[in-house]
Amino acid sequence: MNKNYTGKCLCGEVTYVAEGPPIVVAQCHCEECRRSSGTGHTVGAMFISEAVALSGKVNEFRYMSSKGSEVTKASCASCGSPVFGTNTRTPDHLTLALGTMDDASGLDIEVVIFARDKPHWDQLGEDVISFATQPDWKPED
Ligand SMILES: [Zn+2]
Ligand SMILES: [Zn+2]
Repeated sequence: MNKNYTGKCLCGEVTYVAEGPPIVVAQCHCEECRRSSGTGHTVGAMFISEAVALSGKVNEFRYMSSKGSEVTKASCASCGSPVFGTNTRTPDHLTLALGTMDDASGLDIEVVIFARDKPHWDQLGEDVISFATQPDWKPED
């Protein structure tokens, strides 16, 4: 089913419309994804580049993957939110950061990669106390 997915960065400077469905939705625990996201993994939805219309200024950072391809991570030039990535292994494709999507309903993670690099703290047990929103808690002095 064709569906358009819209999204934006935290400040709203970078926006996109992607014509779906995505090719794949993947969660990645590789070191580069962990460091660039500041958390245990990234979740990305891959589309054909032509299917994505993006506007707004992004900063691009490039590095070589362990397989020798060049990876580009693009983040908003104003607020720094990761927005998309590309990899020369899969030219003409880009992967949108799923957390920037306005409504990802109907999309589920289909595959996890670099599972060996998943930090132990990235999967919470059911015993962890959880709040629906920010609790009224402050560090004691
Ligand atoms: Zn922004
Ligand atoms: Zn990764």
